[in-house]
Amino acid sequence: MADDNLQDDDALSTSPYHRKRRICAFCVEKVDHIDYKQHEMLRRYVTEHGRIRPRRQTGTCARHQRSLAAAVKRARHLALLPFVAD
Ligand SMILES: [Zn+2]
Repeated sequence: MADDNLQDDDALSTSPYHRKRRICAFCVEKVDHIDYKQHEMLRRYVTEHGRIRPRRQTGTCARHQRSLAAAVKRARHLALLPFVAD
């Protein structure tokens, strides 16, 4: 009777940011250093308010999330990304 180990977060997949993939895009691409100059790519990892999306939403692994956060902060400093929108 091991029926209750179905860990399905389908309830969360109503939002466009909670798609079913939980794979780190950077691991897939074998990226080991996230470049702050790729701000168009980084933009996908920040909300419309300029905040960095949590790993829950993007599926990024801990290692890459740290690297990503640093890249976003650097990009912000160079005005490639907003600190906050509006
Ligand atoms: Zn990763």
